[in-house]
Amino acid sequence: MNRLFFNDVVTRDGFQIEPNFIETADKVALINALSRCGFAKIEATSFTSAKAIPMLRDAEIVMGEIDRVPGVEYTVLVPNLRGAERALAAHVDELNLVMSTSETHNLANLRRSCGDSFLGLSEVIRYVDQATAINVSLSTCFGCPMEGDVPLETVRLWARQFADLGVRGITICDTTGMANPEQVRVMVGVLQRDLPDTQLTLHFHNTRGMGLANVLAAAQGGITRFDGSLGGLGGCPYAPGASGNICSEDAINMLDSMGYDTGIDIPRLLTVARGLPALVGHAVPGQLLRAGLTTDLHAAPVQA
Ligand code: ZN
Repeated sequence: MNRLFFNDVVTRDGFQIEPNFIETADKVALINALSRCGFAKIEATSFTSAKAIPMLRDAEIVMGEIDRVPGVEYTVLVPNLRGAERALAAHVDELNLVMSTSETHNLANLRRSCGDSFLGLSEVIRYVDQATAINVSLSTCFGCPMEGDVPLETVRLWARQFADLGVRGITICDTTGMANPEQVRVMVGVLQRDLPDTQLTLHFHNTRGMGLANVLAAAQGGITRFDGSLGGLGGCPYAPGASGNICSEDAINMLDSMGYDTGIDIPRLLTVARGLPALVGHAVPGQLLRAGLTTDLHAAPVQA
């Protein structure tokens, strides 16, 4: 079966809506621990304004202090040209640009039209000029909590336009957990045919309990790259109840137990995940964290 490549987004997508600041040293330690679990990529932080996301105001320090483990790419979210300058100065391995495929969501999230976002991001892509890899995350590809359906043709159009600008990868995001496995099967089939030379990543949320089913549909459809968040942390502030990226360790355990090569040391990852509730100060949605590995056997009850 295919080798799969996982990107953990907990310290960016997961942490950015946490109410209590997580200390820089704790972020660095967590990224360092994840770096030794076998992830292909880690979305370490975001070069947004400190005012917009106070949690990630320490982006430069985090990028300066983490270990750069060989084989792991360190990507960061970049909203604009200023963010790109900061990211390049911090020697990131990849810039992750973001826009929504829904006008209403883009307006709510980024306060501009999709067309204006595209122009702004095009400017960033030209500025970076192939010096560093670029990925574009397209939000709400499977539906918008305000507009409803996002037509597949709209997703294809934006993906094609960014591919034409020479970006290395495109992430298709189910930002608020509206995707279903059949929709995923169709979408990944079409996009892989449209963009055979572009790295496609799928980013799911488990808002309605379909996260892992969607991961499986994508993997069976030939997708090899996935975003996940340790413990299933994360959400979207503009979609009430839209909690939870898919949980990295749950998804990886599922695929590993089916025979996929995820490249991940799962016991080690689980050890890292066990520290997460104390770090964020609350329970996290991950299931494996509660149940343990499939291979963890329990003593039979003593018969009276
Ligand atoms: Zn997410």
